[in-house]
Amino acid sequence: MVRPMIERCIEVQSARAQITAIPFVATDLCQRCAQCSSRLVCRSKALIRIDPEDPPFVDTSRCYGCNVCIPACPFGALRLND
Ligand code: SF4
Ligand code: SF4
Repeated sequence: MVRPMIERCIEVQSARAQITAIPFVATDLCQRCAQCSSRLVCRSKALIRIDPEDPPFVDTSRCYGCNVCIPACPFGALRLND
């Protein structure tokens, strides 16, 4: 009885960690698209782009880890640390 509860707790903690994980932009994968689709879907405006020639970056003070930006990038440039 105790063991399934512990396993459930670990599952919940793991899910929480995934939900709140902050992504980063892999600059070697980023194609510097004229319209960054990941930026368009970020509701907290946490993907910042100062120069259109440069990849965007994640402002960790704004990012709340929803991770919707990850599948929005067609080049897989939004990543999570392993
Ligand atoms: S993060 Fe993805 S969508 Fe955004 S500019 Fe880079 S490659 Fe394009
Ligand atoms: S994880 Fe969510 S809040 Fe953070 S940069 Fe991606 S879309 Fe924006």
